[in-house]
Amino acid sequence: VLGPVSAVAAQFGALLAMRSILNLGGDAAGQLFLLDAVSLKWKMIDLPKDPGCRTCAAAAA
Ligand SMILES: [Zn+2]
Repeated sequence: VLGPVSAVAAQFGALLAMRSILNLGGDAAGQLFLLDAVSLKWKMIDLPKDPGCRTCAAAAA
């Protein structure tokens, strides 16, 4: 992994945390963000909740 790519991922994670803390925009829970560093395009994938998971299954109920 190239250093600048991990820096982008870390800063993006910090941005998502700040958005959540400040209640700006939606919640990124249940979403996976993928960065293609060659094309510089982001892809977002919605992850399904796991019915057996104590955290996300309880939040959905
Ligand atoms: Zn879960």
